[in-house]
Amino acid sequence: MSAIDEGIINSMALATWVDAKIIDVTIINGREAPAIKRQRNKAVGQLQHKISKCKNGSKKHKRLVTAKKKINSKTKSSLCDFDHQVSNKAANHVISHNTARVIVGDVRGIEKETKSKRRMGRHGRQQLSQWSRGRQERYLKDKTGLDLDFLNESGSTKTCPACLTRNRPSGRYYRCKNPICGFTCHRDAVGAINILQKALCGEYTPIGPDTKIRVTYLRAVERWSLDQREAHRKVQCRKARALSSAQNRALSEATQISKPKLANSSTSTDSSVPDQLVVVA
Ligand SMILES: [Zn+2]
Repeated sequence: MSAIDEGIINSMALATWVDAKIIDVTIINGREAPAIKRQRNKAVGQLQHKISKCKNGSKKHKRLVTAKKKINSKTKSSLCDFDHQVSNKAANHVISHNTARVIVGDVRGIEKETKSKRRMGRHGRQQLSQWSRGRQERYLKDKTGLDLDFLNESGSTKTCPACLTRNRPSGRYYRCKNPICGFTCHRDAVGAINILQKALCGEYTPIGPDTKIRVTYLRAVERWSLDQREAHRKVQCRKARALSSAQNRALSEATQISKPKLANSSTSTDSSVPDQLVVVA
């Protein structure tokens, strides 16, 4: 069984028991996605301001609207690619651990309640409402062929997995304040481990004191992976070959058509030469 804790900064943290003593945790960093969205929001905002200032239907208006559409569609494809990268890395974890069940900490619906969450800043709310969590889950489902089960995850990032003390984590690192325990780990790994324990035992259950947590950090970047690049290269090569052969065919056809012309013209000059010669003679 694998458990997933989802977040904005770290898109997914996955935890799986390897054996009785070892938990494998994969943390997939997704900082890039908010950056792409921020860029888009800024550019679209600027364009929108300009659009509002010019006359509806004018040439400038049309140009600006086209530019806005282009930015939106480009961002959309970047984000789609990004979600594929995240789900691909998550699917690799799930498949490599031979997992039969995937449990996801239930955060469905937080995006919708953003307006009521006044304590969050405007920026935080915008980030939350543009979180493409649903699509990542869908891709993961497609890639692993497993259904995702949801589990209430309240308190999963605060509870210490070793002694169940509640701590308020500050920053990205979790430190248990219980002096006897002193457990430390990455904050999102804690969330994933707690969800895993809850799914296995029905409630938050401490992991053994000698449990080893192996954390792998991965980064989803909106750039092509080597596999994608290779696939793209193959397609482009095929296209290039098709194009060059079409060009060659067109060229050979063109020369075949022009050849008789050349022959005609040469014969005409040839014939004109004797004529001229005749005239001269
Ligand atoms: Zn503790």
